[in-house]
Amino acid sequence: MILLDGKQISADIKAEIALAVTEIKKEGKRAPHLAAVIVGNNGASMTYVGAKVKACELVGFSSTLIDLPAQTTEVELLAKIHALNDNLEIDGFIVQLPLPEHIDEQKILMAVHPDKDVDGFHPTNVGRMALDLPTFLSATPYGIMELLERYKVPTSGKHVVVIGRSHIVGRPMSILMSQKRPAGDSTVTIAHSRTTNLEKLTLEADIIVAALGIPEFLKAEMVKPGAVIIDVGITRVPDETKKRGYRIAGDVDFESVSKKAGYITPVPGGVGPMTIAMLLKNTLLAFGRNAS
Ligand code: NAD
Repeated sequence: MILLDGKQISADIKAEIALAVTEIKKEGKRAPHLAAVIVGNNGASMTYVGAKVKACELVGFSSTLIDLPAQTTEVELLAKIHALNDNLEIDGFIVQLPLPEHIDEQKILMAVHPDKDVDGFHPTNVGRMALDLPTFLSATPYGIMELLERYKVPTSGKHVVVIGRSHIVGRPMSILMSQKRPAGDSTVTIAHSRTTNLEKLTLEADIIVAALGIPEFLKAEMVKPGAVIIDVGITRVPDETKKRGYRIAGDVDFESVSKKAGYITPVPGGVGPMTIAMLLKNTLLAFGRNAS
């Protein structure tokens, strides 16, 4: 079994980005600049945004955290987004999800200018991704593609089962892996909550991408020997033995599945750190476009 070490690969990518930033600064240019907007104080969201800002510092980017109160109105948030769209000093920005219920998430994501949409959530960028045109790929699927590519995991002609059809993970994953591209050329099945024969499908899969958000859902008996297992899940599970009162669980029962798998991502330390590295990569791309 080979562990797909997202922590290591993301560190490599960050080192590559840091080198690029050094070159940019040597030319007398300003550093790439990422902004993050967070509304309210959802614990997990604060952790994610904090990690993104810290990663910016690490590679030499500028970063701005816009921390808005939970009662911020949709109109106020839209005004903030328009200001970020117009700010020439900011190359890209993200709006951390989920947003409070009184704000229409879709309306907000639509307001982000596609050229600054480093999360790759805007319909223009999703459409470009689906058509295999240059764009900002959404960071989690992009990170998985990069991980598969850097580990040279064979994907051409392989049967991939993606569990989950969300707009930010499952759906783009299924599209990317079916495309003619590195870590692509696969035959893809997309499964979801209404799929009736999931175990039959996963037992036939060469590669399984588990993105459903149910802790330790995928068990060894659902996996064929030698399969490639990508665990996207991140769930906080109450755990009194931990100081913080919870542990982070993936969607895969790592203990049993790792004994059967050919390759597997751990949680934490697999897909999670890759997501942040790819967000930085998208910001560098936005900077390059902005500067040219
Ligand atoms: P989501 O809730 O939007 O989607 C879950 C999907 O799973 C749905 O399409 C649903 O149909 C499917 N599903 C639910 N129960 C199922 C079942 N029993 N069988 C088959 N399919 C089922 O979730 P999401 O935003 O795609 O996130 C999925 C998981 O990935 C979550 O744990 C989330 O925290 C995690 N996540 C991790 C990263 C990362 O950086 N590692 C990024 C995004 C999301």
